[in-house]
Amino acid sequence: MRKKVIAGNWKMNKVLTEAEQFADNVTDKLPNDDNVEAIVCAPFPFLPSLVEKTKGSRLQVGAQNMHFEDSGAFTGEVSPVMLKDLGVTYVVIGHSERREHFAETDQTVNKKVHAAFNHGLTPIVCVGESLEQREANQTMNHTEQQIKKGLEGLRHDQVADTIIAYEPIWAIGTGKTASSADANEVCAHIRNVVKEMTSGDIAEQVVIQYGGSVKPANIDELLTQSDIDGALVGGASLEAESFQQLVEAGT
Ligand code: PGA
Repeated sequence: MRKKVIAGNWKMNKVLTEAEQFADNVTDKLPNDDNVEAIVCAPFPFLPSLVEKTKGSRLQVGAQNMHFEDSGAFTGEVSPVMLKDLGVTYVVIGHSERREHFAETDQTVNKKVHAAFNHGLTPIVCVGESLEQREANQTMNHTEQQIKKGLEGLRHDQVADTIIAYEPIWAIGTGKTASSADANEVCAHIRNVVKEMTSGDIAEQVVIQYGGSVKPANIDELLTQSDIDGALVGGASLEAESFQQLVEAGT
């Protein structure tokens, strides 16, 4: 059985003291259940302190982005080597906001996913369609292309370890959630694409999250779906209590 993975994506929010307060409030209270993984993906400046504060707890720490090179003349960038050295374990790759505002493409996503595995980081790879694409019936084809290009060249065991987050762009931060049935249909399609790329066994292992206006009030229904194995959560992950409820929903 696949475990449930609940990941908070704080985006560009909080200051250090607030991040630390969150960790202090949450770490002791997370359910002691190996079937659910709790991750918080925080801005770079908070990572060392969060890694320190969550040591020995069930809360894992992730970054929201990284460069694909190990080091070099890339002013303002952060490398996988730096993240690994800090004790970070996860990294969000190709979030739609990075694709939209920072010109990330399936090609840069692919380079970053390879770099993550080369350095022992688990990538959370985001895919999803825009409203226009959904209305033009391109959802399945678009997400399929993003998966094929984004995961190209990975070994099968690496594909099995990849976390995929299906996030319809029109549902992010808008309060509009895809219906659980619609979300599941796309997640099942993604699993099928993974199967074509690898094998049925690998496809059964891959964790596929849904993301887009997930909150304590709607997570239960999403998680009952056959192919939704967790959630990538923005707004509702910022408050400790709400995050804790989301993780509890995964138990
Ligand atoms: P949201 O963001 O939960 O605030 O819609 C989700 C995301 O962007 O990962």
